[in-house]
Amino acid sequence: MNFCTVINCMDGRVQLPVIHYLQQRFGVEYVDTITEPGPCRILAERTNAALVQSILMRLNISVEKHGSQNLAVVGHHDCAGNPVNRDEQMQHLQQAIEFLRGQYAGMEIIGLWVDEQWQVEEV
Ligand SMILES: [Zn+2]
Repeated sequence: MNFCTVINCMDGRVQLPVIHYLQQRFGVEYVDTITEPGPCRILAERTNAALVQSILMRLNISVEKHGSQNLAVVGHHDCAGNPVNRDEQMQHLQQAIEFLRGQYAGMEIIGLWVDEQWQVEEV
């Protein structure tokens, strides 16, 4: 299996750092990428059911067609889709991870934070 999956922000500044980090972290060549503005908040609050379903539908394709067993969710500095401080974003990230772990018990699911230097750290 040569794929992992990321639920990332749509922000262009975080794409390559996150992809490169995950290739190393999970030892895969390809990172299937699902993007939304501020996805942690979308998955933490789940007020927009259609949007949550859309994310899960894309995740299913990655899992079922590409055999992905590893998933990351991303929050980052200066997020236009979730313009709250780091602490609040961390809470959204944790809630998003808990929700996804409930949906995909077999996957390893991690959270990533991308800081103001566009460095990636696991949280
Ligand atoms: Zn963002």
